[in-house]
Amino acid sequence: DALANKIAAGEVVERPASVVKELVENAIDAGSTIIEIEIEEAGLAKIRIIDNGDGIEESDVLAAFQRHATSKIKNESDLFRIRTLGFRGEALPSIASVSRLEMKTSTGYEAGTRVVLEGGKIEVLEKASSRKGTDITVSDLFFNTPARLKYMKTIHTELGNITDVVGRIALSHPEISFRLIHNERKVMHTNGNGDVRQVLAAIYGMSIVKMMVPIHIESLDYKVSGYISLPEITRASRNYISTMINGRFIKNYPIARAIQDGYHTLLPIGRYPVVLLNIEMDPILVDVNVHPSKMEVRISKEQELTELITNAIQSSFKTKTL
Ligand code: ADP
Ligand code: MG
Repeated sequence: DALANKIAAGEVVERPASVVKELVENAIDAGSTIIEIEIEEAGLAKIRIIDNGDGIEESDVLAAFQRHATSKIKNESDLFRIRTLGFRGEALPSIASVSRLEMKTSTGYEAGTRVVLEGGKIEVLEKASSRKGTDITVSDLFFNTPARLKYMKTIHTELGNITDVVGRIALSHPEISFRLIHNERKVMHTNGNGDVRQVLAAIYGMSIVKMMVPIHIESLDYKVSGYISLPEITRASRNYISTMINGRFIKNYPIARAIQDGYHTLLPIGRYPVVLLNIEMDPILVDVNVHPSKMEVRISKEQELTELITNAIQSSFKTKTL
């Protein structure tokens, strides 16, 4: 019901960046190859996501706005096994309950559908012509939850959160083209050619990517790969360290520590490398018994992994730059 949706919204939709994350993940789950994200006033005025994915059949459109009506998987412990990103069926109803939302969607086989909701209440549901894919606009986020609205930081901070979210998603999907536009200005564009270096360049700039070397090492349990900046290129924050397990972004202090240890004697205090690290492993070795959106994980055989990472980074400096 409406109240449950609003309560769930408190968890799922903390800020504009969480809306962007959920909607972009839905677009990815729908098999999109091109995803455009248009933002106004850091998402508080408008968030529009246009994708070229499978779309939603007319008969399924209303269900998509009901709680736990996911068309995807149901078991949270399977987080690292499942291919789709969404699985709780909460995002759309939650977002709709705290905004004005318009969605146009089409499977490409039949007439498309247009639906408009306000505060979660359906105002319009009609056939509409539309190309294959989904075009969803979220306006006036938190218009009916003033307490939440008060928690918003500056436009600058909220936009930074959105850029981070889109950057992370783009890094884990180099095969998808993403375009992020804020107040009609292009913020980021990846071309979807599958090369993660191209995404790194879109986020950090080509001059940094040119100063990065590949990381590659394997053990029986783990395969570690990615790119790390040479000691000449460091940053004053850990924000430039991106770690993924099986292509999914995670946060894990021991892994971050292991990366820094690999760099150890080369790094001035308070400086951090720019890193993209992907760890491939049997999902059974990862424990995700924390809130999925928080990205925190525990890893069994942790020491084997952290030693491997430290070694990988030390040996990566012996290879040439890209
Ligand atoms: P979940 O992603 O957990 O299934 P959501 O509330 O995010 O739940 O979405 C509900 C449903 O709406 C999805 O299961 C999917 O069937 C459909 N859906 C949402 N966004 C899209 C999209 N961009 N393209 C196609 N289908 C979508
Ligand atoms: Mg979803």
